[in-house]
Amino acid sequence: MSVLRSGYVRPTSLGEALQLLAQPGARPMGGGTDLAGLIDRGIGQVATIVDLQALALGGIRGEEGRVVIGATTTLSDLLDAQDMLAPYTALLEATAQAASPLLRNVGTVAGNLCQHTRCWYYRGPEWTCWLGGGDTCYAQVGDHRKHGLQAGDCISAHPSDLAPALIACAATVQLGSAWGDRDIDLADLYRRPTATERSLVDLEPGEIILSVTLPAPPDSSVYLRAGERQGFSFPLVGLAAARHGERVSMCAVGVANTPHVLDPVDPLAGLDGHPQSAWKRTVLATLVERSLATVAP
Ligand SMILES: Cc1cc2nc3c(=O)[nH]c(=O)nc-3n(C[C@H](O)[C@H](O)[C@H](O)COP(=O)(O)OP(=O)(O)OC[C@H]3O[C@@H](n4cnc5c(N)ncnc54)[C@H](O)[C@@H]3O)c2cc1C
Ligand code: SF4
Repeated sequence: MSVLRSGYVRPTSLGEALQLLAQPGARPMGGGTDLAGLIDRGIGQVATIVDLQALALGGIRGEEGRVVIGATTTLSDLLDAQDMLAPYTALLEATAQAASPLLRNVGTVAGNLCQHTRCWYYRGPEWTCWLGGGDTCYAQVGDHRKHGLQAGDCISAHPSDLAPALIACAATVQLGSAWGDRDIDLADLYRRPTATERSLVDLEPGEIILSVTLPAPPDSSVYLRAGERQGFSFPLVGLAAARHGERVSMCAVGVANTPHVLDPVDPLAGLDGHPQSAWKRTVLATLVERSLATVAP
C-alpha cells in the first residue's frame, strides 16, 4: 500500500509546518479521516504527511462581533460551542448532521472543507478517471445516480455539509504558506476543474487553511438536507439559506462539483441535470422552498 511509502511528521510550530508543506509531495493532515483513505487507495502522490494537530490551530473565539474558528477545531468542538455559535443556526444544523459522532470527534473543520469527492470511480483503485488525470469521466458513461447536475468534464457532487452553511453565512478563510498569508471568501476556495488544473480546491502548493471567520450573524439561517439515512450518510442534496435583512443567500451541495451559490430569482439555473441525477432538481426545488419559508421574517 502506498501509505507505507509516505513519511509522517508532526511539527510543533506553524513556521516549521509551512516549510515542510512547501516541499513537493507534502500534504496537510487534520484528523486523517479522509486523507488516510485516499492514501490507502493510492490516490494522489503523498511523499510526506504533515500532521497539523500540534500547531495550536484549534479553538473558537469571539472577536469584535465575529467568530474565528481554528483550522483543526473538530466538528464536535463546534457542537460543544453552542452558546457562541447559536446565532449561526445553519452551521450548527449542518454540523450535527455531518458524518457520525465518532467521525465528528476526529474530523476537523479545514479537513471537512477540503475533503475530496466521494465519486466511486475517483475513489476506486481500478480506475483513473478524468479528475484523477485520465481521459474519461466514467460517471457520465456509467452510474451517476448521486452525481451533480452541472454539465462539464467532471460531474462529481461536492460532499461537505459545513461548506454551504459557512458560505451562506458569508464566511472567509485565512490561508497561510511559506510565502505569506492571505484572506479569501470561503466560496472562492473552490474551483471547477479544468484540463490543466484537475483540482476542486483553489489552494497554492503548500498553502493551508489557518482559520475560518464568520462575520456578524445573519438575522436567520437554516440548513436542510436529503440523505439516504437521517444520520451517518453524506448529503445527496444539502441547502443552506441565510437572511441578512432583505437579502437571502443560498448555497447547495450535492448538485455541482463545488458548493454552488444559488440565485434566489432562479435557483436551479445552470443545474440542468444528467439522465440519472435529474431527480435532484426536484429535491433541490423542495429544499429551496422550505428554506425560504424558514428564514422569512
Ligand atoms: C464514513 C464517512 C461519512 C462521512 N459523512 C459525512 C457527512 O455526512 N457530511 C460531511 O460533511 N462529511 C462527511 N464525512 C467527511 C468527514 O466529515 C471528513 O472526512 C472530515 O471532516 C475531514 O476532516 P479531517 O480533519 O479528518 O480531514 P483529513 O482527512 O485530515 O483531510 C482531508 C483533506 O483536507 C486536507 N486538509 C486537511 N487540513 C487542511 C488544512 N488546514 N488546510 C488545507 N487542507 C487541509 C487534507 O490534505 C486532505 O486532502 C464523512 C466521512 C466518512 C469517512
Ligand atoms: S464525476 Fe469526476 S470524479 Fe467522478 S468519474 Fe467523472 S471525472 Fe471522475
